[in-house]
Amino acid sequence: MHNPKALVIFSGGQDSTTCLLQAIQTYGRANVQAITFHYGQRHSIELERAHWIAQDLGIAQTVLDLSLMRQITHNALMEEGADIQTAANGMPNTVVDGRNALFLMYAAIYAKGQNIKHIIVGVCETDFSGYPDCRDVFVKSMNVSLNLAMDYDFQIHTPLMYLTKAQTWALADELGYLDYVREQTHTCYNGVVGGCGECPSCVLRERGLQEYLAGNRPSEHILLHSLHNKSRLNAQTASKNTS
Ligand SMILES: [Zn+2]
Repeated sequence: MHNPKALVIFSGGQDSTTCLLQAIQTYGRANVQAITFHYGQRHSIELERAHWIAQDLGIAQTVLDLSLMRQITHNALMEEGADIQTAANGMPNTVVDGRNALFLMYAAIYAKGQNIKHIIVGVCETDFSGYPDCRDVFVKSMNVSLNLAMDYDFQIHTPLMYLTKAQTWALADELGYLDYVREQTHTCYNGVVGGCGECPSCVLRERGLQEYLAGNRPSEHILLHSLHNKSRLNAQTASKNTS
């Protein structure tokens, strides 16, 4: 019996790179693929980093062009010269409506064709509650919808869902890749190599890193929770392999 295969939605940023590294550890490098979406991002550096990291880690990467998004929606991530701002309600103007829904749909169609059931996405509702399709309730509902849509047993995994940025750095460290994620990933909304230090994404990333480095280790509860999920996954995997 083969090991299960996994598809990681991969942007080349801190979160999805951490997910990719964790997937490699969980499923084995040969069983992991990455899928990257081009949707008219302002900066090609994101795509370049994603390509470089996938190559460096020896992971097969599929890049899909969803730039048709520009025909139906506009936001600061996609428009040259637009200011990155946070509205009074805390919602950054970088939200792309429906983006994760669309990504999951395409990822699932691709995954089924590859005989892949496990889809991993680095969404998180802890630090960025402004994005409705990063919430756990959305991902669970999308999982049900995809299973019904394609009559397939997809399992969407969101290992970062309840982690703070500091805890995501802790996870990268646990995996032995803290410096790698720090140096090789790109998260800046302004497309500045190494980060502009000012956009909401850079601020969040840096604050989390400093918090982690300052020794504010994640609570044992969260780490145990994540280990529990990991062992549950391994148990499921083992039972599938023996069935
Ligand atoms: Zn920045």
